[in-house]
Amino acid sequence: MNETRNTPTNQSVQPVPLAEHLTGPVRRCRICNYRCELSPGQSGVCQVRHNQAGTLRTVNYGLVSKADLERIESRGFYHLFPGVKVFSLGGYGANFPVPAGQTGYLNIPGGSAARYLPVEKLARFVIEQQCRGIIFAYNEPAMWFEYLLDACKSIRANGMFTAMVTNGYMTLEALEMVGHYIDGLLVEVNAFSERSFNILTGQDNFQKVLETARRAQHKYKSHLEISTKIVPGVNDSDSEIELLATWIKQGLGENVAWHLSSPQPGMQARLQQIKQIGLNCGLNYIYLKDAPPVNEFEEDLAALFDSTVNGNTYCHKCHRKLIDRQNAEVSTPGLSGNKCANCGTILAVHNTLWKL
Ligand code: SF4
Repeated sequence: MNETRNTPTNQSVQPVPLAEHLTGPVRRCRICNYRCELSPGQSGVCQVRHNQAGTLRTVNYGLVSKADLERIESRGFYHLFPGVKVFSLGGYGANFPVPAGQTGYLNIPGGSAARYLPVEKLARFVIEQQCRGIIFAYNEPAMWFEYLLDACKSIRANGMFTAMVTNGYMTLEALEMVGHYIDGLLVEVNAFSERSFNILTGQDNFQKVLETARRAQHKYKSHLEISTKIVPGVNDSDSEIELLATWIKQGLGENVAWHLSSPQPGMQARLQQIKQIGLNCGLNYIYLKDAPPVNEFEEDLAALFDSTVNGNTYCHKCHRKLIDRQNAEVSTPGLSGNKCANCGTILAVHNTLWKL
């Protein structure tokens, strides 16, 4: 474990709800699957939870690192309340390695540079801005667990939806606390082998991520989408992709949206091949980031074979356009609730506050 680095302010210091008492003043944090055991004076891997004289405390409560008003698709959700305006925000702390350029989420700024947003003010702001919901993103939302929990309860109580973009490494105990108040999760499943998971995160047991996704969908009835960043030579073998795609189909459903991207340029041809593997495994909605556009006159023809052309969504049964994302305004000409308005096929689209 590490010595304390982040400097707390009074209002941002809160007790950790899932602190387990071990020998003497040693405490185990059960927010994420690192399950750090901390002696007094020590900090967890995330650098935002500390053992202060035998009490586990977080120091990032309500401190905002980044916030934006945007369309929900900007945060990667394509089948959750398509096209609506959301408030996206993130806090501080990371449990997985942070890509270069995103290290701003690691260190809490001191003094007046820290931006504290009380939960009541958050709900008021989201209502005033006429957002339909809130997305926790940018840094890992579980690192902001105490605030995430309070904020999700408040936002839902005010008639808006909640969602998060997560690496899925939250414990099942933590999910048990927040699961009923989360409407949607975009889970980053970047590995389907211990080797890949270890290279990408330094951790073992990629199954923990899968458990989180499955539990969120099955027990808490949260909407689910999966994203995978393809790293050549690490997680892009045909066999690993096949296993992952088959797991999505069998564990979550054939209509769950799967988003493929790569941090490495020049990967479009390989991403297309990976998409084809996913389609062959029986997945119906696979989106490629920055895929080359199809000529608009050929789009209807292409949609006979592919339900996600030009970022638009087509019914995989009758091929009618369900969601149009080509213009500044997203429209849903072919949706009727969570069904295709033309043929009645039930889709993995969620656009109600009811957990179905
Ligand atoms: S949130 Fe995770 S990384 Fe941070 S202290 Fe708890 S178990 Fe450790």
